[in-house]
Amino acid sequence: MSTKYIFVTGGVTSSLGKGIISASLAKLLQGRGYSVTIQKLDPYINVDPGTLNPYEHGECYVTDDGAETDLDLGHYERFLNVPTSQSNNVTTGRIYQTVINKERKGNYLGKTVQIIPHITDEIKNCVTKLGNTGQYEIVITEIGGTVGDIESLPYIEAVRQFRYEHGRENVMVIHLTLIPYLSAAGELKTKPTQHSVKTLQSQGIQPDVLVCRTEHELSADQKKKIALFCNIEDDSVIESRDAETIYDVPLMMEDEKLDQVVLKRLELPMRDAPDLTNWKKFLSRFKNPTCTIRIGLVGKYVELQDAYKSILEALVHAGVSNECVVEVVSLHSEEITPSNVEDTLEGLQGIIVAPGFGNRGLEGKITAIKFAREHGLPFFGICLGMQCAVIEFARNVLGLEDANSFEMNGDTEHAVINMMEEQKAITDMGGTMRLGAYTCHIKEGTLAHRVYGRTEISERHRHRFELNNAYTEKLEKAGLIPTGINPETGLVEIVELPDHPYFIGVQFHPEYKSTVANPHPLFVNFVKASIGAKEAVVAQ
Ligand code: GLN
Repeated sequence: MSTKYIFVTGGVTSSLGKGIISASLAKLLQGRGYSVTIQKLDPYINVDPGTLNPYEHGECYVTDDGAETDLDLGHYERFLNVPTSQSNNVTTGRIYQTVINKERKGNYLGKTVQIIPHITDEIKNCVTKLGNTGQYEIVITEIGGTVGDIESLPYIEAVRQFRYEHGRENVMVIHLTLIPYLSAAGELKTKPTQHSVKTLQSQGIQPDVLVCRTEHELSADQKKKIALFCNIEDDSVIESRDAETIYDVPLMMEDEKLDQVVLKRLELPMRDAPDLTNWKKFLSRFKNPTCTIRIGLVGKYVELQDAYKSILEALVHAGVSNECVVEVVSLHSEEITPSNVEDTLEGLQGIIVAPGFGNRGLEGKITAIKFAREHGLPFFGICLGMQCAVIEFARNVLGLEDANSFEMNGDTEHAVINMMEEQKAITDMGGTMRLGAYTCHIKEGTLAHRVYGRTEISERHRHRFELNNAYTEKLEKAGLIPTGINPETGLVEIVELPDHPYFIGVQFHPEYKSTVANPHPLFVNFVKASIGAKEAVVAQ
């Protein structure tokens, strides 16, 4: 089987939703029975997004193999329900690192190492690496950034060479652009698109398909004009109107026949129309909810939607499972104090305490958890959220006043959250992190067991610190039960309070594994418990 390759580039501006368009196209092709994967090439110099501030780049998404990746990979997994890996996200930094390592080893035999051919060859290697696994009939490669950026140039050149080397029938380029609406003129304007296609053409690439983001319908005449000026076939100008939700986009792309245009261009059989039965069921439940609940998301990056992208999407999936709208109320942890916590959490049916790094906002998280624990408010702590639940319990129930995480206070007498001895010697940024999938054994008869319905699970991690097992017994005796344990290391992965309507903290990140096809049970049950809490409040 020879793999076909689709490259997706972006023009005019960033944030047009290349990731969603790529994922939607992949969904349609998958629905026709094709095996598809999506890859993101990011033109920045960071080796991975692990060290990027979430304010700048949104959440860092983690794969099973422990790669810290761009959040678009989250969309790919949520749409396709197929896991991604390190190979699905490559940055300029990683490409250069590989090339420089090869140079140091003498692999280039004394040749001058240059952007062309060495960097471009490495980019092409990253693409064919996925194709050569033999697992995929189609590889979709999304090129980050905007055509015309200096950073994008080597990628565009690599795509040009790739098409030349693999043959026209095996490689195509989809260009995503914006058709802005000028309200003063009352018109949609195609000029920025024309310019952006010209830029691409000047770099040796004629796009095959244009996907045009627009707030208003494109008329047949406008489509024709775009096709003519951009040298594209009429049926290959695809309109992409603003959608109510990202989950509508695959159906909109199906209406526009994007999948058919692509298959025709790649000389692949159409097969049957995409089977989107389950997807449509999901959407119809999404749009016909029977109740609404309000969940507080306590974190420090709450202003920026993208910082907690996977958590928000997991809540959407869980809401749909429960036929319920989950309204997320963002709560800035720095602003929560013992004197305002009651007012702040009033009217909420549950709280999630978010993952995070560093001291800022820690006390606010602990205050919110104390309130939830004492008032029977459903609580779900993720990673740092779980660690905060342990600190809160140690302080207020065990009476260890200065209990803390070693991360926040290296001098504390009671580091209930600590670093494992073997990690302490490694100081390289990112080097000490526990990353990727680890198995966890769940104790029978616990909330975690009821939630998962089994005793062996695998979840993804991204953290440096762990529950300090010197305190596990004391915590358990006082009522905070460790119910999920890593079988190899004995590290505690889940804690819960049995005497509470729903109080669970997990050291891992379940949000990364929630998909439309498989909403994550921890989120589904948290939402269910919160609906129950709401009913309990109403019944009083
Ligand atoms: N800062 C904590 C740690 O490193 C928690 C990390 C997280 O929430 N992802 O262990």
